[in-house]
Amino acid sequence: MDLKNKVAIITGGRRGMGRTHALTLAKAGAKVVISDISLEDCQKVVQEVKKQGGEAMAVECDVTKKEQVDIMVKKTIEVFGKIDILVNNAGILQFKPFLELTEQDWDKTLSVNLKGYFLCAQACAKEMVKQKSGVIVNITSIAMGGMGVGFPNIVHYSASKGGIVAMTEALALELASFNIRVNAIAPGAIDTPMMASSEQDPKTMEGTLARIPMHRIGKPEEVSNAVLFLASDRSSYITGSTIIVDGGWLAT
Ligand code: NAP
Repeated sequence: MDLKNKVAIITGGRRGMGRTHALTLAKAGAKVVISDISLEDCQKVVQEVKKQGGEAMAVECDVTKKEQVDIMVKKTIEVFGKIDILVNNAGILQFKPFLELTEQDWDKTLSVNLKGYFLCAQACAKEMVKQKSGVIVNITSIAMGGMGVGFPNIVHYSASKGGIVAMTEALALELASFNIRVNAIAPGAIDTPMMASSEQDPKTMEGTLARIPMHRIGKPEEVSNAVLFLASDRSSYITGSTIIVDGGWLAT
């Protein structure tokens, strides 16, 4: 799965799965742009990529701000000349019972997890259309709905993740004629800082593990391998799809 001469942007790349997506795509030969709210942490990931022998650049970007997204795209074009791959990964997760959810909670989650994906996809697609090629990988979640498995206390998160799947399918149709593929990945429980902050209680963790047929939490790299597949030509006839990476959780 060779990504030599390809340029990839990864949002939310300073830690967690964004970090491993960047390291994995760079290992396959891509020049990677690591973006997140914290530039300092992105620069640390840039150093890790360089240690592997790869090329990388850090860009500060809050995906909810159109002007920052446009600057991220502009800088990528200035430095690397093009954009072949966008990994829409930046996301937030807040646990709160539905009856306590505020308008602000709803707006914040939808703004990062859905509007941010739209802004980044549109800004990158405008460049991809010019070169008549590109790949967009949207990170959703098994909490996306539509599979008969609901998750309590994350109604706003689930709505945003379901929106990502709908957006992926609609966008795949619109962009297919420009040779741009758009797919999603739905991870289950993956060992990242987001997961750590949500699973403090050992009893909750036991409950989670009991629902996963493989009886373990996934490693971020196991999701990154799916990102690599969708970003590479090995998935050249796949568009509008969602790949589930969950150790069998949704199959139960
Ligand atoms: P993570 O460790 O919290 O990483 C997410 C990154 O996104 C953080 O660095 C975060 O920065 C950044 N971010 C948040 N708001 C942003 C914004 N407005 N603009 C730019 N960056 C922003 O989470 P993760 O577990 O790696 O999750 C990555 C993606 O996978 C998310 O979309 C998440 O919903 C999805 N996912 C995760 C799991 C899981 O079990 N871990 C399962 C299913 C889906 P801050 O830390 O400053 O907020």
